[in-house]
Amino acid sequence: MSLVIDFDDIPEDEELILDLLQSPEHFKVDPEEGVLQQDVHVQGHLSKLGREILFKGNISTEIELVCSRCLEPLRYPVQARITSHFVPDKEGGIPDADTELHASDIEVETYSDNRIDLTQAVYDQMMLSLPLARLCKDDCRGICSHCGVNCNEQSCTCSDQDSVDPRLAVLKTLKDKLK
Ligand SMILES: [Zn+2]
Ligand SMILES: [Zn+2]
Repeated sequence: MSLVIDFDDIPEDEELILDLLQSPEHFKVDPEEGVLQQDVHVQGHLSKLGREILFKGNISTEIELVCSRCLEPLRYPVQARITSHFVPDKEGGIPDADTELHASDIEVETYSDNRIDLTQAVYDQMMLSLPLARLCKDDCRGICSHCGVNCNEQSCTCSDQDSVDPRLAVLKTLKDKLK
């Protein structure tokens, strides 16, 4: 079983059950976005309506993201629902009176040569399910902008110096030199 399904493998009057593990390499996730830590589990069912295919299912996996405050890696469990419609592309397809109805539906994808490839749809839902705020913990203290230490692990004294005007600091250094 793979994420590429042959149109003829889907029965006319029944759903085709899909349950598979797809390796992380298959999705080519940009490492800047995250790194998949395990196979992607895709479960669901495909059904036919004429030449149109409906896929409904669930995606689960685990992805490593980077904390936006301290830049340490964090593991995020992905649990996403997916609903996708596939219609044949123009070349292979039969002109369909419903096509215009679908133009406004963002979830519609096309397939050609009777091959329905769920990869892109699964990828998109997976990435959409990632949190906007990527924090290793809610109260992550981040990295000190002065000395660069991870403030979750170490404390630094930089915040004490924040109140010193840098121009005054220069004067102080001069004074020290004149001593
Ligand atoms: Zn953090
Ligand atoms: Zn510091």
